[in-house]
Amino acid sequence: MTDHPEKSLAMVLRGARQALQAEQRPLPEPGAGQVRLRVRACAVCRTDLHLQDGDLPMARWPVVPGHEIVGTVEALGAGVQALRLGQRVGVPWLGGCCGRCRYCLAGQENLCDAPEFTGCTRDGGFATHVVANASFCVPLDHLALDDATAAPLLCAGLIGWRSLRMAGDDARVLGLYGFGAAAHLIAQVAIAQGRRVYAFTRAGDTAAQQHALALGCAWAGDSGQTPPEPLDAAILFAPVGALVPLALKAVRKGGRVVCGGIHMSDIPAFPYALLWEERQILSVANLTRADAREFFAALQTLPPLQVHTRTYPLQAADQAMDDLRHGRFQGAAVLVPGQPG
Ligand SMILES: [Zn+2]
Ligand SMILES: [Zn+2]
Repeated sequence: MTDHPEKSLAMVLRGARQALQAEQRPLPEPGAGQVRLRVRACAVCRTDLHLQDGDLPMARWPVVPGHEIVGTVEALGAGVQALRLGQRVGVPWLGGCCGRCRYCLAGQENLCDAPEFTGCTRDGGFATHVVANASFCVPLDHLALDDATAAPLLCAGLIGWRSLRMAGDDARVLGLYGFGAAAHLIAQVAIAQGRRVYAFTRAGDTAAQQHALALGCAWAGDSGQTPPEPLDAAILFAPVGALVPLALKAVRKGGRVVCGGIHMSDIPAFPYALLWEERQILSVANLTRADAREFFAALQTLPPLQVHTRTYPLQAADQAMDDLRHGRFQGAAVLVPGQPG
């Protein structure tokens, strides 16, 4: 093993409800089947806030958060043939799976009994370098977006995509509850597919509502409002359980309510009549490599996405998380190592 004079800078969470700490570390070495990436950009996800809040019981401390990584391959571990040095790849939330459990064998690796989650059970991209399993990296050679713009696609885009698939191809009238990073991307995909999209935001969040309308949504309003027509399906991106009965009220008979988040406040009791008439409530958990292949292939056939980002230097990761927590920007926060503060 060579001795690297170069160090890695990582923003580390040492436990729940702590601030991030900057840490100099030796360059991480890729093991068999792994690659080391130089991180070019890493977006900040609401899941990073849930991690910091101690809402994710599978977290392994200390951990470097970040699972919307765009990087270039800098070192190849033994046996890696599918990736090459210098190649641009993305690293999403699902960082590994066992390949043997009933879910993996059934093509549902997102539900694996022994999964690895980037930036949660293994170190993620709030760093200058990261080691990833090569077979879970997404090649981004053909994506016509720069690094910071591409980063939010690795979770906000992918989870949005899986949620949209769950909503059903026949969902022509779609409600999106919570208009942040995921919704602003998937709204554009849904509209390009010919769907009508209604955006629901926190009461009085006119900035988010205007953002939704500017991106082509047919209507935008407060989450308690009744949309102009019944929805075929609703996707909930806001981690607010009280939205479930509101969304059930807004969908038609046989309609679906898809919960896209990893964590949500409790769902309040509601009358069975809201669920009756074959309405369904579903949740989306994680994503598969097939989702990533499909999503990035679909992007090739759609008009270019407008990805709204606010970039921060790596060392300002705490500020980025705080701004996300308080809804201080539209779109997605992205950490860019090397960006001057
Ligand atoms: Zn498995
Ligand atoms: Zn995420």
